[in-house]
Amino acid sequence: MPTRKDGVTVDLHTQPITCLPGVGPRVAEKLAARGLSTLQDLWLQLPRQYEDRTAIVPIRLLQPGVAVQVEGRVEAVERGFRYRPMLRVAVSDDSHGTLVLRFFHFRAAQVAQFRPGVRVRCYGTPRPGQHGLEIVHPSYRVLDDGADAALGESLDPVYPAIEGIGPASLRRLIGLALDRLPDEASLELLPRELRDGFQLPSLREALLTVHRPPQDADVAALLTGRHPAQRRLALEELLAHHLSLRRQRIAQQAHAAPVLEKPALAKRLEKNLPFALTGAQQRVFAQVRSDLARPHPMLRLVQGDVGSGKTVVAAMSAMLAVASGQQAALMAPTELLAEQHLNNLRGWLEPLGVRVAWLAGKVTGKARAKVLEEVASGHAQVVVGTHALMQEGVAFHDLALAIVDEQHRFGVHQRLALRDKGTGGSGNGDAIVPHQLVMTATPIPRTLAMAAYADLDVSAIDELPPGRTPVQTVALSAERRPELVERIRKACAEGRQAYWVCTLIDDSDEVIAQAAQSTFEDLSKRLPELRVGLVHGRMKAADKQSTMRAFKDGAIDLLVATTVIEVGVDVPNASLMIIENAERLGLAQLHQLRGRVGRGSAASSCVLLYQSPLSQMARQRLETMRETNDGFVIAEKDLELRGPGELLGTRQTGLASFRVADLARDADLLPQVQRIGEQLLEQSPELAERIVARWVGGAMRYASA
Ligand code: ADP
Ligand code: MG
Repeated sequence: MPTRKDGVTVDLHTQPITCLPGVGPRVAEKLAARGLSTLQDLWLQLPRQYEDRTAIVPIRLLQPGVAVQVEGRVEAVERGFRYRPMLRVAVSDDSHGTLVLRFFHFRAAQVAQFRPGVRVRCYGTPRPGQHGLEIVHPSYRVLDDGADAALGESLDPVYPAIEGIGPASLRRLIGLALDRLPDEASLELLPRELRDGFQLPSLREALLTVHRPPQDADVAALLTGRHPAQRRLALEELLAHHLSLRRQRIAQQAHAAPVLEKPALAKRLEKNLPFALTGAQQRVFAQVRSDLARPHPMLRLVQGDVGSGKTVVAAMSAMLAVASGQQAALMAPTELLAEQHLNNLRGWLEPLGVRVAWLAGKVTGKARAKVLEEVASGHAQVVVGTHALMQEGVAFHDLALAIVDEQHRFGVHQRLALRDKGTGGSGNGDAIVPHQLVMTATPIPRTLAMAAYADLDVSAIDELPPGRTPVQTVALSAERRPELVERIRKACAEGRQAYWVCTLIDDSDEVIAQAAQSTFEDLSKRLPELRVGLVHGRMKAADKQSTMRAFKDGAIDLLVATTVIEVGVDVPNASLMIIENAERLGLAQLHQLRGRVGRGSAASSCVLLYQSPLSQMARQRLETMRETNDGFVIAEKDLELRGPGELLGTRQTGLASFRVADLARDADLLPQVQRIGEQLLEQSPELAERIVARWVGGAMRYASA
């Protein structure tokens, strides 16, 4: 590693790409547009394909679809102009095979090159053509007669294309960067024992293998990203992200937070409730309570299945803030859900003399000014709302606890934006940071939680309130749709309500809305005695909400809906749900939808209508739904079937920004990542620091942490 005069070592990886010969400002700009600006960025720009030019395959042995290198002499050349210009070059070799090279774009000079008898070497994927196999637009070169052109020694990497830089230049640049790869001693950050323990190659070896795989490399493994060299890179990257989250967590813990330790109000709330808390609710509240009693900010994720009663835990937590004379905020992702929280909280808290304010997008003008004033003065003790809570201009008097519901709907940044509302007032460096409670009904399997939420403590409300009968789930082929009409008639005659969910028959909102519309018309006709309502994503927000409200109030018997009803709406009297095209939905979504029923005491059922034939995956999903109502079990199964990338909604967690790692592929590395992370933090924190700097670097994902 080069050493500066002052004795500070400089990591070579931070050297700008412009130190390479031939990289001027224009090329640098194009690379920068793709996030490539240092040598290290080039090292980590991995090939997406490999071309094997280490051997020449006899033409007779070519197989359609298998890319190869061949060499032969030009037999015949034909130019065509019939529909568009075309050049066909027939080539044959000693194996007595003939192959056609076909070009649609070519220059005159190229045509001149292909004289009969000339030797060409080319690479490409043969496909069946009019006269045997042909390769369209092969990469090729004409060989000097007599001279023996050397074969490649390693597989040729093919890099993701970068606009304005040809593949050959890109390969050259990356090659030059690799030539400057430091020796192992200065490049390696993982201690030897660790590497040996997990049987990992060194970083240098891994990079060289991936970029210049030896002839005998396991290409199949390389192409699927499961080669030990790639695993090594992925592991270090995951480790870096894990360490950065841990570090952030430690930094977060260093902030001061208000100590909230007066339980009286929360106790009074609990006593007033018409029900007793479940064991799980008590346990989670106790965890929150002990977090809040400490002078450092809590950052806790509460996972709890739909209907497990997260709201009341949130309300009791808020009472700890209010009892200390401070404020709590509760933010929900949709107006309907926020409104439901508002009603619940007002019902529970106003009898205790706690003032609850409401802030959503539609609160405007004078009303808004009044709410803002109450929030700023501290008159409002609990503030419930939507994203509107995070907007500029919303200033709290003394926010001690920020609660975010259904957090998977919000980005990490939004979550932090609400937290930052607490720091505004003080103005000095040692700002007091509010506690954060994050709630989700989409549980995340443990391994994933470790990766995505290494900066959070996680607790689970893993028990439903008593008296709920588990939802009976059946899967029926769509042909049996007519029977369901009778079933709805019967349920509604007994005073119950039902959902009919129209789902993805197409990706467009419009088509789904139309399907919902026609289902609505059809069911209205068949069930004239029922009050049928319709909600879909193309309706105005106000219409959607008034229909939902009517359903909630019992003024609608049957609600035909698209998946817009997915999030947290509580209608205990609804006991029947029919989901059309259930085979198209993921497990998490099916589970969320089903959670809309089974909220009251009546036995509820869910019918999953599917179109045959079912794919293997779809069959497994429906089976899982029939077998269990447990969100945690379903989440594990979902991970198994789908892979974590989708599960997490990578965009929201910021986990999508990996260069090498792919959570879907590398999830099994996560337990190792965690163990190595613990060891490093304990034994060599300075190495941990450098690993984070290498991979996560200055581009801190959570700038405000
Ligand atoms: P979720 O966890 O899905 O947000 P909610 O907080 O909306 O669930 O609670 C679902 C319903 O269960 C609400 O009507 C709530 O009042 C009720 N509930 C919550 N806790 C209990 C309990 N311990 N016993 C009985 N009902 C409860
Ligand atoms: Mg909820």
